[in-house]
Amino acid sequence: MIVVLTGAPGAGKGTQADILVEKSGFRKLSTGDALRKHVKLGTEIGKLAGAIMERGELVPDDVLFKILRAELGTDKGELLLLDGYPRNVAQAETLATLAEVHPVKVAVHLDVSKDELVSRLSGRRVCGGCGATYHVASNPPRMSGVCDKCGGAVVQRADDKAEAVAVRLDVYEKNTRPVLDYYAKKGLYKKVDGAGGADVVFGRLKGMIDAL
Ligand code: AMP
Repeated sequence: MIVVLTGAPGAGKGTQADILVEKSGFRKLSTGDALRKHVKLGTEIGKLAGAIMERGELVPDDVLFKILRAELGTDKGELLLLDGYPRNVAQAETLATLAEVHPVKVAVHLDVSKDELVSRLSGRRVCGGCGATYHVASNPPRMSGVCDKCGGAVVQRADDKAEAVAVRLDVYEKNTRPVLDYYAKKGLYKKVDGAGGADVVFGRLKGMIDAL
């Protein structure tokens, strides 16, 4: 069973997915993380995707489908959280073709205002070693530029720079927002207020997931 976590870049999908994994027995599948791994390893997919990701644009659907197939597995009973997929209606339709093994139970939209999204994304910093995330204002590392958890270098993701953020938000409006309507028409859409701290948002999300 799949829970799709959807919402604009910076809405907190990855953060909420991590808390759900820790507390509720889900496995997380983040297409952004999978792509970043390919880039780091320098695979064919990574070579193709790296520049596209830096610009904040979408990687082609056929590449995403390969990643999805490889990561989803064949375990019918598994509770899966999809973070970052589908990002357009064609991807949602592709996902629906896998419904026999992996039916979508609900698509949760983490709803956050545009001002808040820009502030979250432009202030976000990540550890290049372990992937821990920080924010320059609300959650900085104890020592500037050094990860509290592993001592790795804490840097800004190339696609969190202002120009790429503008592209990503635009891509979201044009390509991903229609996915919300797609799931609403199927009766699978739920909106959760994504404003506030991670714990507060998790409280709202958990109530909804528990009711499934
Ligand atoms: P994320 O970490 O989810 O914000 O994804 C980072 C980047 O990876 C996006 O800006 C896209 O370039 C690419 N990406 C991730 N998921 C997808 C997807 N489902 N379709 C196309 N591109 C994707």
